[in-house]
Amino acid sequence: MAGRLASSRPTRSSTTSRSSTTDSAVTHGRYVHAEHPEPQVVEVLRRLDLADRIDPFTRCLRCNGHLEDIAKAEIEHRLAPLTRLHYNDFRHCRECDRLYWRGSHQQRLADQVATIRAELGMAAGPIDTASAGTAAG
Ligand SMILES: [Zn+2]
Repeated sequence: MAGRLASSRPTRSSTTSRSSTTDSAVTHGRYVHAEHPEPQVVEVLRRLDLADRIDPFTRCLRCNGHLEDIAKAEIEHRLAPLTRLHYNDFRHCRECDRLYWRGSHQQRLADQVATIRAELGMAAGPIDTASAGTAAG
């Protein structure tokens, strides 16, 4: 558990395990009541007052680094043949250089974010989607 790795610092944790919230290394643990992922996200965002900080599809799934646009010509040699053929817009992680593009699952992820925003009473708003599909790197 992360709390044990950083025992000298305050540790925040959200969990569905009641025993984890009583772990002495966790100083700010919260029990998550919802049983399914989307309601869990909504519950945590509400409890920690983070709803206005949602910024989907802007961070690397591997290292949490910021994503930025990158020209296809710069990374074309790293793409699988079908990805090279079907996609033109790419982002890469500034930290670890992992590649992202709007893959076939992009709409499903965007729909999940829209559902979460609606549950939080937020306007749908535009979602800048460069959802994950990875190449070497
Ligand atoms: Zn990264």
